[in-house]
Amino acid sequence: MTAPYTSPLAQDLAPDVLSRFERYVRIDTQSRRDRERSPSTPGQLDLGGLLVKELRQTGLDDADLDDNGYVIATLQGNVEGQTDHLAIGLIAHLDTSPDAPGAGVEPIVHRSYDGGVIELPRGGTRLDPAAMPELQDKAGHDLLTSSGDTLLGADDKAGVAEIMSAAAYLASHPDLPRPTLRIAFTPDEEIGEGATLFDIARFGALCAYTIDGSERGELQDETFSAYEAVLTIDGVDVHPGQATGKMVNAVRLMARVIAALPSDTLAPETTAEREGFIHPYELSATAGRAQLRAIIRDFDEELLEQHARLLQRTAHDVVDSEPRARLDIEIRRQYRNMGQYLEGVPGVVEAAEAAIRAEGLEPIRTPIRGGTDGSRLSEMGLPTPNIFTGGHEYHSVREWASLHDMAAATATIVRLAEVWTRPEHASASKMRQPASR
Ligand SMILES: [Zn+2]
Repeated sequence: MTAPYTSPLAQDLAPDVLSRFERYVRIDTQSRRDRERSPSTPGQLDLGGLLVKELRQTGLDDADLDDNGYVIATLQGNVEGQTDHLAIGLIAHLDTSPDAPGAGVEPIVHRSYDGGVIELPRGGTRLDPAAMPELQDKAGHDLLTSSGDTLLGADDKAGVAEIMSAAAYLASHPDLPRPTLRIAFTPDEEIGEGATLFDIARFGALCAYTIDGSERGELQDETFSAYEAVLTIDGVDVHPGQATGKMVNAVRLMARVIAALPSDTLAPETTAEREGFIHPYELSATAGRAQLRAIIRDFDEELLEQHARLLQRTAHDVVDSEPRARLDIEIRRQYRNMGQYLEGVPGVVEAAEAAIRAEGLEPIRTPIRGGTDGSRLSEMGLPTPNIFTGGHEYHSVREWASLHDMAAATATIVRLAEVWTRPEHASASKMRQPASR
């Protein structure tokens, strides 16, 4: 039996969000890590171009795709006296992850999911509710999967389809009050570049919401703070036949550094929830030179600094014992926990909570053990928490989404527009302009 939708509005929106989603996921928009230009891959421009066309058909005449692959569009507000100062942003990303095949996606709709194991036609891929706790709650939902040999692309085409669908609904329902909505679809989020060329001044929104989360009801206003570290050890390379007393092997030194790092604690595989880590993830080494890449993560800035110092100290302790070896450590900031920027503008998260409640759901507040476009946008001055999409098992061929939950996300966006026209939010927003940093 088909499960009920969260609301009649969600039920109304479901067919449109489904048809958009099926259209968008068929375009290969996988991003590439070694990017030479923005966007990193041309497929993202294909999807961007299609979205511009559809936005204009919906009446968002200023919709535009810029040279860097950013789609920007405006749905004008319709509440007198509010539209000039109040614009709210909605953001999703065009690209899909480089970590699973992203070309030739053929989505499958599983109507009224029976709660059992789903066998996909290709690649022997199985979705087993025993291994996927979130699937256990979805009996009766209409589910979407790939055919088993590609990712689905719900990350983040679910978010794209939901914003598109909500904007189209609001445009055709002028009786529903709304602030001015600024829409952005960003390229290359999966390779950490979605915010890089985002023009916040031109976007001109007071705050924004990424639609890029997962389980129904989720609202995320905290992410990791993040460093990347590159350690380089130069040894002394000599022909092994003449190495006696001369060779200093960088491979051995780096191996000792890695072995000296904590692994029972402070590792991604041994931590959870609010615990941070040091994660060595790439190593290249010869006897002459060894290079290690590691990421450092924590929700707390002071703890993040402590982890960085621990990594530095550990490397120095090992390498300094060999005066002929040289150690170089570069530590680069990647992004910061958005929580510290959202604290100062509580109305932003409160409005999202009110919208989720208006859809009959209880907001689930979870910190993200990672970053989003919103981590960097919040730091750049655009407070941007993250709202659920209804998609799961991202970056894998087992990726799936619930159409019921995607419809709930779309309805939540429609309700978010209304929430921002309520006097308490519209006026609070004027008083709490985010501090420029
Ligand atoms: Zn995403």
